[in-house]
Amino acid sequence: MIPYGRQHLDEEDVKAVVETLTSNWLTQGPAVPKFEAALADYCGAEFGVAVNSATSALHIACLALGIGEDDLVWTSPNSFVASSNCALYCGASVDFVDIDLQTGNMCMKALKQKLEHAQNINALPKVVIPVHFAGQPCDMESLHVLAKQFGFYVIEDASHAIGAKYKGAFIGSGQYADICVFSFHPVKIITTMEGGMALTNNSEWAEKMRMLRSHGITNNPEVMTEESHGPWYYQQISLGFNYRMTDVEAALGLSQLNKLEEFLEKRNALAAHYDRLFSEYENITPLKQNTDGYSSYHLYVVRIDSFTDKQHADLVTNLREQGIFAHVHYIPIHMQPYYKNLGFKLGDFPNAETYYQQAVTLPLFPELTFEQVEFVVKILAEEIKR
Ligand SMILES: *Cc1c(COP(=O)(O)O)cnc(C)c1O
Repeated sequence: MIPYGRQHLDEEDVKAVVETLTSNWLTQGPAVPKFEAALADYCGAEFGVAVNSATSALHIACLALGIGEDDLVWTSPNSFVASSNCALYCGASVDFVDIDLQTGNMCMKALKQKLEHAQNINALPKVVIPVHFAGQPCDMESLHVLAKQFGFYVIEDASHAIGAKYKGAFIGSGQYADICVFSFHPVKIITTMEGGMALTNNSEWAEKMRMLRSHGITNNPEVMTEESHGPWYYQQISLGFNYRMTDVEAALGLSQLNKLEEFLEKRNALAAHYDRLFSEYENITPLKQNTDGYSSYHLYVVRIDSFTDKQHADLVTNLREQGIFAHVHYIPIHMQPYYKNLGFKLGDFPNAETYYQQAVTLPLFPELTFEQVEFVVKILAEEIKR
């Protein structure tokens, strides 16, 4: 079976993990701050806060920006549920902004209209969370202009987009956003097994996130509210969590980061091969690429026109039967039962729903071969003709 995504680990990664496993530090040793500094430096951000998942990073990013019960957070319905659950963890309300059918990313025109309406009824969001779907950067410049005009923060859910670039700058540099979150789950571009990181250029938010990932505890005398009792002393000054990344995971992350560029070159070359082959087929449309961006190609997605739900399901089933583990990203978040119970309903975000009916994710990962790409295209074309 050819999976839709897969980690790529080599001898160096194994060595890095084994060395850390046999060192004095399994967790909270030197590898975590080293990984934080290396990734922040790579992306051109000042601070990195490593945690045990992107989900945790999104949660503490929302908290660092002060999200609470009376606040509103908007995100894209074409994403993994973590993009919106983070706001619910904080007691805030969630709403979605419909997507551009061609790119799968949040539609900036829809966002502007929704903001204008929200301003009239005094219900503006405090944070908007764009998702760089499949690794392709959103239109961040337009988003930034709207953020200034309407006064909201931007947290990028860049779980798909480590190493991606927008107008020449790495996603995570903070040029157009306040906090940027990456995921290191094995299906993503580089892995730490489970893991995530938040990048920011704001020292106060970085400090807050550091505290929140570790129980709300600080060892920093400067922020303590009372005199130290002695060298063992620490203070809990907020209600935090245990969201820490281990040193073993960070050592793997550092080793994987060395190969990021190579991974992205391979992913882009494979995607270009798919694009070339699909250009022969009128009813199979790859995601439209943003000319301002360099995609990290976490996913390779095509849309297939005039497809019934049954045909969609049959196609994915038949591909899997022939050894191609096709997938679908994403079931719109507002269609999940949990979100329906919050009041969302079918028809709320029509582009995300249409997109969902048409989308198929095909295999893309560094070890995939050009021959396998050709095989996938051939089988897909045969299946669609049937
Ligand atoms: C994978 C993913 C997450 C969650 O990442 P974890 O590290 O598994 O918590 C959040 N948002 C998006 C868009 C993702 O793809």
